[in-house]
Parts: sequence; C-alpha cells; structure tokens
Amino acid sequence: MVDDESLTNTYKVINKFMTEKGWLECRCGTCGKNFYLKPSSIASKSSCGWGQCAGGSYSFFNSIKRKRIMSPRQVCTAICEHFERIGFKTEIPRNITNLDGNTDLITGRNS
Ligand SMILES: [Zn+2]
Repeated sequence: MVDDESLTNTYKVINKFMTEKGWLECRCGTCGKNFYLKPSSIASKSSCGWGQCAGGSYSFFNSIKRKRIMSPRQVCTAICEHFERIGFKTEIPRNITNLDGNTDLITGRNS
C-alpha cells in the first residue's frame, strides 16, 4: 500500500524532474487536476485538455468516418505521399539480412 508520504515524495521527484526540463505545472480550472505544459505551448494553462474540460468535445470528433478501413499498404502509401509532398526524399532501404552469422550492430552513414 502506498502511503501519503510516499505519494508526496513521488510528486516532489516528478515535479523536480519536469520543472528542470522546462515544464510548467498548472491546475485545471474544470477538473482541478494538475498537469504540465511547456510555457511556449499555445494550449490553455487553465485546462488540462481532457475532452470534458476542453468544452466537451474536440473538432476531430465531428470528422466524417471512413466508409472502409485502409489496408496497412494503403496507410504506408498515404504516409509516404504525405512526407514526399512536404519535401522528404524516399530512400530505397538497404538489405540488412546477415547470411554469415549473428548481427549485433548495424550502422549506416549519410551520403
Ligand atoms: Zn481538467
């Protein structure tokens, strides 16, 4: 069983870690729970972002559902097309199969 002192100590350790990493502890004005936010975030400092605290709904909940599920290959194609559209170049993957023994480490270099 976890006692209050253990919880307090755990909170202190987590809070110290988060604040050292630049996170800001905030308290949600709706549910009263504490949450962390990067000061540079455009998210509200008064809402934890949970659906019910953020006005009850997110806009993507109203998005139209797909009529059919995409196959893994279709998802892969859509992701590749997205990244190519925003400027990433597709590389042909190298075969990393080791036919001569056990593979412990695989490295590559940028060309
Ligand atoms: Zn909340």
